[in-house]
Amino acid sequence: MRRASPAGRPAAGGRAPRPRDAQPEQLGFEGMPERLFVCTPSRLGAYADCPRRYRYSYVDRPAPPKGPPWAHNSLGASVHTALKNWYALPADRRRPEALPTLLKGTWVREGYRDDEQERAAYRRALGWLEAYVGGLDPADEPIGVERVVAVKTGVLAFNGRADRIDSRPGPHGPELVIVDYKTGRAGLDGDDARGSQALALYAYAAERVFRRPCRRVELHHLPSGTVAAHEHSAESLARQVTRAEETARDIMAAERSVADGADPDDAFPTAPGPRCAWCDYRRTCPTGAALPGKEPWAAVERFAGPATEED
Ligand code: SF4
Repeated sequence: MRRASPAGRPAAGGRAPRPRDAQPEQLGFEGMPERLFVCTPSRLGAYADCPRRYRYSYVDRPAPPKGPPWAHNSLGASVHTALKNWYALPADRRRPEALPTLLKGTWVREGYRDDEQERAAYRRALGWLEAYVGGLDPADEPIGVERVVAVKTGVLAFNGRADRIDSRPGPHGPELVIVDYKTGRAGLDGDDARGSQALALYAYAAERVFRRPCRRVELHHLPSGTVAAHEHSAESLARQVTRAEETARDIMAAERSVADGADPDDAFPTAPGPRCAWCDYRRTCPTGAALPGKEPWAAVERFAGPATEED
């Protein structure tokens, strides 16, 4: 169902949003629990970054066209899947010699400027993977690889796919650790791990799914071979959950206001910033369209040359 704005005009980009509230309404009998907001970390992150981007991604139907695929997303997806498939091998076959086959099998080709740049990125990714698995014990079996964990709170029905969930010995028995692979910018530190709402929500959910403590979260940056870690407390995890619930309430309020007749452009305002240059909806968004964008391969251009410390 398409819903027009109050003035009858379509929303920016020629599309009118279909708020979730335009779907069949759950009756609000007194005492009945309110509907939970079903979400993933990307969904919450999209709104926190820019409400308009959230609208384009999750509300407008049909969704506005995205820009072309990004080479850095292709690179990240290729490396993530190669590592997933590494753990699918029997332990005695988890050797660096397996990596070229794994990476070729999962390689995503989209977004590169040309074959030469793509080959350079492939070589670089293979080098990262070789260095990374050289530091792993092939006999280690994570408790989850690309594992979906889900949890409900009073507001959220959260689900998300963690890159890896390790079980490691702790002072009072096995403890879980959330591992997130990174292939982008260098210089991640403990503050990035501490501030990541996605990692905190994975930890909160994993603790409940597996009924084991899960307080440590780690960002494994493959290009630099560094690990940025943070040890959460029950309180810091609870704070991140509260923040996620606040974001969810804001989203539901924005959707409700559109259902009640507000202008979708006002309910989901733009939040311009450096991220606009990388936004999939830059061409649809009136704010983003006025700003310079990046070429789809801009973030991998440095791989065409020799490795640097920054990589
Ligand atoms: S271009 Fe910028 S302001 Fe527009 S939707 Fe994307 S992030 Fe938001």
